[in-house]
Amino acid sequence: MVYSLPSLPYTYGALEPYIDTLTMEIHHSKHHQGYVNNLNKALEGYSELQKRPLEELLKNIPSLPHDIQIAVRNNGGGHYNHSFFWKVMTAKGSEKPVGALAEQIDRDFGTFDVFKDQFITTAKSVFGSGWAWLCLNNNGDLTVISTPNQDSPLMQGFKPVLGLDVWEHAYYLQYQNRRPDYITAWWHVINWEQAEQNYRELL
Ligand code: MN
Repeated sequence: MVYSLPSLPYTYGALEPYIDTLTMEIHHSKHHQGYVNNLNKALEGYSELQKRPLEELLKNIPSLPHDIQIAVRNNGGGHYNHSFFWKVMTAKGSEKPVGALAEQIDRDFGTFDVFKDQFITTAKSVFGSGWAWLCLNNNGDLTVISTPNQDSPLMQGFKPVLGLDVWEHAYYLQYQNRRPDYITAWWHVINWEQAEQNYRELL
């Protein structure tokens, strides 16, 4: 097994009342574990690929053997996205970004509220299953994008700073069809310090 499920940096109940314990437990121990298992299965017999960093595989899906491209895209993307997602949440969430990231959000969006509106609108508008992201683009500008399914921003040349899972499995037990309520609640558990660290590592 090349890949394994990372531990959460908090307990399953830590994000209550915004994200419920059972959702976190199933999301992490079943959904994320499933992506890890299927990624390992896809890479069985490809010892060269097993040695390459996951990021490199995701940036170069079209160069992979044809028979594993879809499996790596879906499950490698799923493993990468979820590993990223757990870290940008915390029980000690704050509503606004800090430091250099806060400065560039103001520079690229005008104000924090403009960014927040854009992010929330994008997250609400994802059709079906997918993700909303704050990313750096190739010009070094911050931009809000969405990705379908488990596609990673890396596949489109973007580098993620903050991401939100809007698959129904991320919120349905607590919020049923009310994705906007989940997005509003999620805003209370954003780990802006981690987002800023992600941002600094990309500079
Ligand atoms: Mn998910």
